[in-house]
Amino acid sequence: MGQREAIREFRFLGPICRRIKASPFKRLVFHSPDLRETAQFACRKIVGHIVRREEFDTELLRAAEKAGAETHLGRKVTAIESGEHQMTAVLAGGHRVAGRILLGADGVHSAVARATRLRTQWPLDQLVVTLSKTIPLTARQRSSCFGDGAIHVALGFGQAPGYAWAFPGAAHASIGVGARGWDGQQLRPLYDAWVSGLRAKGFLPAGVSTGNPDGGAVPAGAALEFESHVGKRVILIGDAGGFASSATGEGIYPAFQSASIAARCVLKALEADRREIKATPCQDELQAFQHLWRQQMAPYLQTPNVNLAFLLPLIYSNQEIADRFGRAFLFGENL
Ligand SMILES: Cc1cc2nc3c(=O)[nH]c(=O)nc-3n(C[C@H](O)[C@H](O)[C@H](O)COP(=O)(O)OP(=O)(O)OC[C@H]3O[C@@H](n4cnc5c(N)ncnc54)[C@H](O)[C@@H]3O)c2cc1C
Repeated sequence: MGQREAIREFRFLGPICRRIKASPFKRLVFHSPDLRETAQFACRKIVGHIVRREEFDTELLRAAEKAGAETHLGRKVTAIESGEHQMTAVLAGGHRVAGRILLGADGVHSAVARATRLRTQWPLDQLVVTLSKTIPLTARQRSSCFGDGAIHVALGFGQAPGYAWAFPGAAHASIGVGARGWDGQQLRPLYDAWVSGLRAKGFLPAGVSTGNPDGGAVPAGAALEFESHVGKRVILIGDAGGFASSATGEGIYPAFQSASIAARCVLKALEADRREIKATPCQDELQAFQHLWRQQMAPYLQTPNVNLAFLLPLIYSNQEIADRFGRAFLFGENL
């Protein structure tokens, strides 16, 4: 799921979403933890898009290449070498790629974060662990199971510190559960219960396989706990830097935002390097990333500042509160 703010802010995303036939949605249905009650948040305008990550990521890669990026696909970075004037990524097979600045954008298990010691491991409570499955849907199954394509969320499902979801795309649905600080074994019964609940509610086509879910992790809100995202000639962005919403785990939009802020800092740093401006050396320009991301992103990444246990049960009887939860969930607005 990606939200409309991302498309507004990053213009190249609109054409990509059109090319891959991203599935827009206007409605979010909240299910109570016992799946007995529902509440909804509906908008006249599109509030977000469901994409298949393989297609979306392939298009992003193409766009980057078109803009001049040199890519080395299928080769893992195995080591990072840090020099006075340059950083070098050593790829599997020994090939080396050097540059003056390194952006660590290598996801939640970032090798760059570990190699530069900006983060060695995640404290458990900073990760939301997930079990999920992508199931194929024919056009008929999609319309009989998901109607207008609304997305479904059960906050606090099974009393876990997280939520369960079902997001229908154009020809698939992503279903899954996530909980903060849990592990895959604890999650499995929750996943099975969610699948049973979805079947009982008619959201899963008969006979569809939901076994062998994929494990994942999202560093939800973890950026806020980082001492620093900036090392010598290095900045961590995206999941590598913990840039995902604490409330929803949404990380695509914050990955773009952190990348965009970092890119502006890097341009200034390269200029400082080139002109050898002694008063504003390269590192100072990179260091600016620290306060810029906090200024622009911290409110979006933060956990809602209200007593959720008190408010959440009210959304099923009070439309105003359901709307506030909808806006908080989809747009990161404060509750
Ligand atoms: C189950 C699940 C569902 C999610 N749903 C949503 C959602 O609906 N909406 C949303 O906004 N976010 C969602 N997220 C979060 C979102 O996926 C991430 O926040 C986002 O992908 C972060 O982007 P990134 O580019 O930082 O990292 P990634 O997308 O993880 O990309 C990192 C890249 O680095 C590469 N890499 C890693 N290590 C190395 C290495 N050593 N050498 C070379 N390359 C390497 C990887 O192959 C990958 O291509 C979800 C996450 C999970 C786990």
